[in-house]
Amino acid sequence: MRPTPSADAATVTFREELFRRGLLVETGVPGVYGRSGEFDDTVALVERLVMAAGAADRPEVLRFPPVTSRALIERSGYLGSFPHLAGVVRCFDGSERDHRALLRAVESREDWGVGLAATAVVLAPAACYPVYPLLAGTLPPDGRLVDVMSCCFRHEPSDDVARLQSFRMYEYVRAADAQTVLAWRESWLARLVHLAHGMGLDVRIEAASDPFFGRTGALLADSQRGQGLKLEVLAAINGEHAPTAIMSANYHQDHFGELFGIRAHDGSVAHTSCVAFGLERIALALYRRHGLDRARWPQHLRQAAGA
Ligand code: ATP
Ligand code: ZN
Repeated sequence: MRPTPSADAATVTFREELFRRGLLVETGVPGVYGRSGEFDDTVALVERLVMAAGAADRPEVLRFPPVTSRALIERSGYLGSFPHLAGVVRCFDGSERDHRALLRAVESREDWGVGLAATAVVLAPAACYPVYPLLAGTLPPDGRLVDVMSCCFRHEPSDDVARLQSFRMYEYVRAADAQTVLAWRESWLARLVHLAHGMGLDVRIEAASDPFFGRTGALLADSQRGQGLKLEVLAAINGEHAPTAIMSANYHQDHFGELFGIRAHDGSVAHTSCVAFGLERIALALYRRHGLDRARWPQHLRQAAGA
């Protein structure tokens, strides 16, 4: 997690230009944008390139909706670490009297959400969460590798056009013994840089931390960074001075293995790792790098996009 850069002139100009050209469309909510056909086509191109980068490993492919089980999020420890980012789905489940009270609250612009009942679902905060419960039990000798992608929500409204509340995250999730998982993550670092270079992006890799909540969270973040558990690939979106994380390679040690009863073939608690790609952020990095006129992009990218 990097602090949101203040909206300096370069940042504002890039965002305004994206709106002006209609690549992104404002909805009145920061971090929630409509996309033009062309922008989404660029996201689809990025998705194909990410999928191609991992295809040789023959991952199992799974797709989940943008909502996930509330019980899963409770069990995963997400609310302990990131209560400020979570989005939950609550629905009206009351009487006619409750309904009238709700409409009065809407009319008088009061908080009409107070009377809504919890449902069995929350908004998915990352693509990988629904995978861990499926891995419970003893893994095959070489562990498992899953390819997932879903629309994710994080409550982090911002004027930074790269910090969305709703965005698509592509991930490869690996579960096996510690040594196998660490070697797998290591092997991805070169692949991430190669993938970025193939798109013409200048990137660097840095140790980072997740945006843990509160004072204990600050200690967790320091420890995560110190141990190199989270590595981010940074590229310019809001200018060169404050590069943005477009991909991350995360090592969870035995955190999810313990929580979800995942065992490596040798009987030890399995370790897990995920390599994550922010599809809109990579698309934005491409517009930043090659310009907002896609017709002028390098030929191999134009061809790959069918543009
Ligand atoms: P950041 O450091 O920017 O807060 P993060 O550490 O929370 O990101 P991860 O949890 O590693 O990010 O998410 C994987 C990838 O998803 C990130 O590398 C990024 O490309 C993308 N991503 C994360 N948060 C957002 C967001 N708010 N808007 C758009 N893309 C995001
Ligand atoms: Zn993940």
